[in-house]
Amino acid sequence: MARWPLHPPPLEDELLSSWIVRLAVTYHVAPFTFCREALALQHPTPRTLDHQPPPALLTRLADVTGCPIARVVATTLQRYEGCLFGAITAPVPAAMLAMMQGIGPDRSCATHWTRARKPWRGADATPWLFPPQQAVTLQFCPHCVRDDAMASPRTAWRLALTTACPKHRVLLREGCLHCGVPVDVVFLSWRHTSFRYCLCGADLGQASTVAAPPALAALTDRIHEAVTTGAVRLDGTASLPAETYFTILRAFVEAVRLTRGRQPWAEACWRTLGVEPVDIRPHLAVPFEAQPLAWRVDTMQLVSDLLTEWPSHFLASCQRVALKAVPLLRRMQGLPPALLRPLVHVLMAQDPPTLTRFMLATPGTSPPSWPDLTVWAGEYLTACRRLGMADQVIRSRSRGLPAPWYTALDDALFAERVDRAVTRAVARASSPMVAGAFLTAPYSRGVAQTGVCTRLLHSPSLLGLPRAETCCTIDSNGNGFLHQEDV
Ligand SMILES: [Zn+2]
Ligand SMILES: [Zn+2]
Repeated sequence: MARWPLHPPPLEDELLSSWIVRLAVTYHVAPFTFCREALALQHPTPRTLDHQPPPALLTRLADVTGCPIARVVATTLQRYEGCLFGAITAPVPAAMLAMMQGIGPDRSCATHWTRARKPWRGADATPWLFPPQQAVTLQFCPHCVRDDAMASPRTAWRLALTTACPKHRVLLREGCLHCGVPVDVVFLSWRHTSFRYCLCGADLGQASTVAAPPALAALTDRIHEAVTTGAVRLDGTASLPAETYFTILRAFVEAVRLTRGRQPWAEACWRTLGVEPVDIRPHLAVPFEAQPLAWRVDTMQLVSDLLTEWPSHFLASCQRVALKAVPLLRRMQGLPPALLRPLVHVLMAQDPPTLTRFMLATPGTSPPSWPDLTVWAGEYLTACRRLGMADQVIRSRSRGLPAPWYTALDDALFAERVDRAVTRAVARASSPMVAGAFLTAPYSRGVAQTGVCTRLLHSPSLLGLPRAETCCTIDSNGNGFLHQEDV
């Protein structure tokens, strides 16, 4: 197909509908006429073009403009497929349910979505996209509009997910500052061809702005990172694939939405923003994607704070409603390992016996180091000691563990006792330098007549004992005595 003589390429992050309007302007043709005559589109609207353009249109545009097809696709919301949602055309509720991990600290929240018959209103709704029946499906950043040589709407402005500008760190706006008409209408009309000015003539670039709260600005950065690089790293967690990250984000958005009678955790979360749950319940009854910008801003701010310094802020939110470790973990089983592991780690340190029993009874939750029972026993014991638990308490609270685990713990307790006895004996017998040599050396243990005999495999020359190994015999009271044995 012959290339058009004039074919300005799409601007950075420009929407397809906006690019088509600019092409029409280049040829001094009205956008509708241009669509009909040059692109064989009968009833185009910017919205359908940006969401689900006919595939033939994309290949035709690539042919006549010389723009790579991937770049043409990137002007549509299809660019977010496999990241924000599976496929833009996937039938809902399947698409929504795929995003609904069973997580949520409030009781029954975890099963709420899987039980729900109709999780979503509207047959063709997609996660993070404005519902089709909604009046507002486009937002804008006044600073971006002001700074653009040729103002053009961005793909991210078509997402309900986006609430702030990653470049200017201000909240987006939905409508004209002067007449209040949604910016959609400005653009949908195609009546004039500059996105910078409203139908009333007001300059959208001059609209006042509100700085994004720090938590929201941080979240906006993460979202931008995930969308542009395909992965994101939360504080203290391994890198998450973008799709996993957005699934988690969606699950938290759902968890703080007040949709049921009693949600103590979600209600307590909202109070930290200074919002009374009873006041916002009606607003949050509609799905996130259908909420006005102001509510989406608050929800995102809340969710961002919960994910900050994972899992410390989140655990603090659970402590506010005195949520115990086991029910909490039970309700958070849908978390990916990258987030579940740090959570388990912190909870484990708070109550090792209970948590270990729970983890062993719940398939698929054991941290990766657990198959190595020695490593597990060492961590377990360290955590118990940090809580000030004595041998007796540790033993009695660990009775319910399966035999191999209890044996590993018993070994660890024994090794600890040997370490203590050896340390004391060495401290009595030798200089600090020599003591250091003992403590860093591995030892093997056997049973001597007087009790346990620990053979210290150190360099004998350090003690000036060239032909002997030093041993520590430990009596039944846990006292150690150093002596030499001939090799
Ligand atoms: Zn901006
Ligand atoms: Zn206006």
